Amino acid sequence: MKEKVTAEKMLDDIFSIMQRLYNEMRSNDSNHNSHLRIFEIFAELGRTLVSADRASFWRWDKREHKLITTAATGTQQIVINDTTGLVGQALAENRAVITNDPYNHPNFNSDVDKKTGYVTKSILVMPVSNCRGETIGAFQVINKLDSEEGFDEVEDTKRLSVAAFICGIALESDMFLADSQRDKLTDLKNRFGFHSDYQSKYCYKKVPMSLVICDIDFFKKVNDTYGHNAGDAVLIHIAQILDSKTRSTDGVYRWGGEEFIIVLEGAPIAGAFIAAERIRQAIMNSVCQFEDKELRVTMSFGCAEINNKLSVEENIKIADGRLYRAKENGRNQVVIED
Ligand code: GH3
Ligand code: MG
Ligand code: MG
Repeated sequence: MKEKVTAEKMLDDIFSIMQRLYNEMRSNDSNHNSHLRIFEIFAELGRTLVSADRASFWRWDKREHKLITTAATGTQQIVINDTTGLVGQALAENRAVITNDPYNHPNFNSDVDKKTGYVTKSILVMPVSNCRGETIGAFQVINKLDSEEGFDEVEDTKRLSVAAFICGIALESDMFLADSQRDKLTDLKNRFGFHSDYQSKYCYKKVPMSLVICDIDFFKKVNDTYGHNAGDAVLIHIAQILDSKTRSTDGVYRWGGEEFIIVLEGAPIAGAFIAAERIRQAIMNSVCQFEDKELRVTMSFGCAEINNKLSVEENIKIADGRLYRAKENGRNQVVIED
């Protein structure tokens, strides 16, 4: 067992961590994952505040019913079911959960310990909320280092609340940002999301990248004939096809109205043509079921390999010009040249 750290040492450790947080927030890093480092530092703060061996911060994805570690000291990102374990219990009961005898706790899963040989002796989990009091995640600390008795419900929840509070605000603002970059109808990222991804990752890629801009043909007719709700159903249907026909490393965005933009990673223009052609055929052969109607649409595509010497607007303009040509040439086709 470690000796109790002095108040002075503890304070100095906390200030050092806060300084790292401050510097991390200020660093104009091109790495789009830089906010993950902030959560890593939060975990470190929580670990230090209660003198624990390990700490992790879990984001609660309520839609997917998952708990995801945004940061854990000493482990890779983990995803678990939101009803699982002590974290699941803390969220379900909306209160801090402590055990100083985990192997006899019904909600403790000892599989990781069995695999790694780690011995868990004590755990404290605190729910984390946003400004409206909605639970959005949980802070977990494992193995109290300076006390044989383990975590103390009063003292340690008081200390951990500092990290849990800051973490809640940071996570909430991160969630707001992600939300503002998502289109509510199709659940794809929107134009703002595209620009954010472009600036933070696409323009730094060392592999060939291509842009595909596509637009539904005669979409106005769908709205005019079957109504706006039918048009919305078609947009959702198209978004699902675009998403399912591209790789996880590609990006699919709703550019606006019935127009979408796809970023293909590792694809020179010839690869973009193959991908766009595959998507075009999938759309042409698909049926969107809306109420008792079977709706069919086609799409036109303009592709351009990203030239990093040009601005994002200039690259888009090239792809957009080719989309215009595809429309002029009769629609339902892919154009890759001027
Ligand atoms: P083209 O083949 O030349 O692209 O013809 P189009 O009819 O698809 O193009 P146009 O630009 O004339 O019409 C686009 C239509 O898309 C008009 C607009 O009302 C509709 N639209 C844009 N956003 C939405 C939406 O969110 N939902 C629905 N239902 N319709 C939308
Ligand atoms: Mg259109
Ligand atoms: Mg259009």
